[in-house]
Amino acid sequence: MTDPVPIDAKVAHVRAADQVRAHACHWPGCDQQVAPARWGCLSHWYRLPPRIRSAIWRAYRIGQESDGRPSADYLAAARAAQDWIACCGGGAAAGVADRQGKLFDEG
Ligand SMILES: [Zn+2]
Repeated sequence: MTDPVPIDAKVAHVRAADQVRAHACHWPGCDQQVAPARWGCLSHWYRLPPRIRSAIWRAYRIGQESDGRPSADYLAAARAAQDWIACCGGGAAAGVADRQGKLFDEG
């Protein structure tokens, strides 16, 4: 289920979020520190297709980065991002291409 809070409110929360603990960008191989409310650094975030960013926004729940309880939908959206990076993201680090890597193996 998507989180019903308007995206605008989520965006405002994430933009204002601080680096309250160590939390690196989720792009494989990127160790840039970003606020835990953020998925990743801006350059990598905007390399994701709009449909994936949109799915992450819809599933994101304000505060999930604090209580450590993302929804199953969020985890699925985050997984879809990793799958996309592995198959189509270009320059993805080895080791993340599991299921999708086999489906889209180009040799
Ligand atoms: Zn990054």
